[in-house]
Amino acid sequence: MKGTLKSSFLLVSLVVLAFGCGGAGAGSDAPGEKVQVAATISVIQDLARQVGGGRVAVTSIVPVGGSPETFQPSPRDAGAISEAQVVFENGHGLDAWVGDLVESSGNEDQRVVVLSEGLQPIDEGEHAAGNPHFWLDVADAQRYVEKIRDTLVEVDPRGAEVYRANAKKYLAELEELDGYIKKKAMSIPEERRKLVTFHDAFPYFAKAYGFELVGVVLENPDAEPSSREVAEVVRTVEEEDVPAIFTEPQFNARLADTIAREADVEVYELYTDTLTREQAGHSYAAMMRTDIDRIVEALG
Ligand SMILES: [Zn+2]
Repeated sequence: MKGTLKSSFLLVSLVVLAFGCGGAGAGSDAPGEKVQVAATISVIQDLARQVGGGRVAVTSIVPVGGSPETFQPSPRDAGAISEAQVVFENGHGLDAWVGDLVESSGNEDQRVVVLSEGLQPIDEGEHAAGNPHFWLDVADAQRYVEKIRDTLVEVDPRGAEVYRANAKKYLAELEELDGYIKKKAMSIPEERRKLVTFHDAFPYFAKAYGFELVGVVLENPDAEPSSREVAEVVRTVEEEDVPAIFTEPQFNARLADTIAREADVEVYELYTDTLTREQAGHSYAAMMRTDIDRIVEALG
């Protein structure tokens, strides 16, 4: 199976080499010639679009609604990566599979940028490289945006003014978003600011916005928890007296429903690793706003 996938990558790479290299360089002002950007996840795709505006075409390798932690790239994804002039990955193990795609693409002029590089990771058991979900703290997402801006300025200097202006405006928007989340979080009584989430995506969010993480349903996104682990979450929910637990659209909510029923609490959906097609989560800013609004509704 793995061998088949590898040779398919190779085939795609060869096809791209044969037919895909005739275009002009990055940042031509001619219409229709956009900087080709690949992002590993839809959250990063949105950040790159906000900065790049009309000068860039950004694809997301993990489709909207998908989980980067259980994602299996296809030969088509290899094609998308080999066509990209810039690849934005999150890093810290979230999207490590992109390494193989980049390697097999054979595109030597490609820029590969790890957006979480240089940020201070929170280490815990499940994530050897530190938890990868930095973007759920808006201040860290702002660091991503600055890196995206600086990369696009380098790759496409003719667009520098556009990228700087777009980034400046967007960073201000994110500053406002950060303030909104802080204010909303503070409206929840401190003893109720406790999160039981579906997977371990919230350490940066919790640290930035004053929440305590008391439980995670899915310690490992790749495996179903044992019945003992599920019982433990139920006990935590009861002991900590949390009024609600949270699911995420990229995971099957069945388990959370079971826990909620047993512990007699409500279930709310939060967005983390992917945008959605619904208005509530169709952009990074919308997703963060929806998350804090739902948390306030659940715990406030
Ligand atoms: Zn995740």
